[in-house]
Amino acid sequence: MNPPAPTDAGQSDREFQLSLIQAIHEASPDAILVVDDRGRIASHNRRFIDMMCIPNDALRGLQPGTAIGQHDDLILAASVAAVKDGAALQARVLELYANPELEDHCEVEMKDGRMIERHSTALRGPDGQYFGRVWFFRDITHQKRIEAALHELARHDPLTGVANRRYFFEQAQHEFARARRHRTPLSITGIDIDHFKNVNDRHGHDGGDAVLRSFCGVAQRLIREGELFARLGGEEFAVLLPDTPIDGASRFAQRLRRAAAEAPLALDGERTVRCTISVGVTALREADAAVEDCLRRADAALYRAKQSGRNRVEVEA
Ligand code: GH3
Ligand code: MG
Ligand code: MG
Repeated sequence: MNPPAPTDAGQSDREFQLSLIQAIHEASPDAILVVDDRGRIASHNRRFIDMMCIPNDALRGLQPGTAIGQHDDLILAASVAAVKDGAALQARVLELYANPELEDHCEVEMKDGRMIERHSTALRGPDGQYFGRVWFFRDITHQKRIEAALHELARHDPLTGVANRRYFFEQAQHEFARARRHRTPLSITGIDIDHFKNVNDRHGHDGGDAVLRSFCGVAQRLIREGELFARLGGEEFAVLLPDTPIDGASRFAQRLRRAAAEAPLALDGERTVRCTISVGVTALREADAAVEDCLRRADAALYRAKQSGRNRVEVEA
């Protein structure tokens, strides 16, 4: 049998390439848009129309229900209308068209709350000539929500829901640097529940857990915006008080001590117990090299409060 004529081979190769491009477009999990060097839409997939919510009146392309062959401006206007920061999108797209060598990779927030990851790159021929730009869009809303939830989990204590030790130290370091920069006061209090072992001994570990949760509720109600209450571990807690000098911090500590002593802490549905706390208070000093210096003093003050009989506030000015 004779081999197929070269023209047939060329034709079937072209058909193969076309069907490959079509399959890549339609099977891709990404939305795809290709714009040529004159700003005309060379191709796009259905997913692009759906993802960017392109209205029907912007789809007057060569093929029904597409924008293929028409200028990019209608599609760009529809995309600008769908994103939160339309002006930024418009400016960036024009910048990319004017500078084909630029690579583009970013996340775009949509007005309806979705997050779209965008990636685009120049289309070039074998000799480097510019043919246009191909854009890829991926809906990463679900992934972003999971990331945010994991981030929250990593910052919070699972038993009580308050900030955990790691987040407290992160914020303490941040506030230390801020206080140094702006020469503002910063206070820290260390808190430990008195004779907590007795609660566990009398009411079991679950009872103890419930008391820890109740105590956190009492403390959280006294915390103002910008302040941070955290569980450092066990029955030990701390409060970070930015912009608060030592006098304000010791007044806060006394309020917390009284509130803890007076509040009936829930053991379960019906029963409650009373607990007291010991508190150590200190404030940032000129000589402190790191926030750990401050935390050590709060600990020393807390130790003194325990030694002096508990249910007390001690201050290391
Ligand atoms: P002090 O007044 O000297 O602080 O006495 P204390 O009994 O509170 O102190 P100690 O540090 O000896 O005991 C703390 C207890 O807290 C011991 C431990 O079993 C309990 N504890 C630590 N973490 C948890 C927890 O997550 N749940 C419960 N229920 N108990 C815990
Ligand atoms: Mg303790
Ligand atoms: Mg204790």
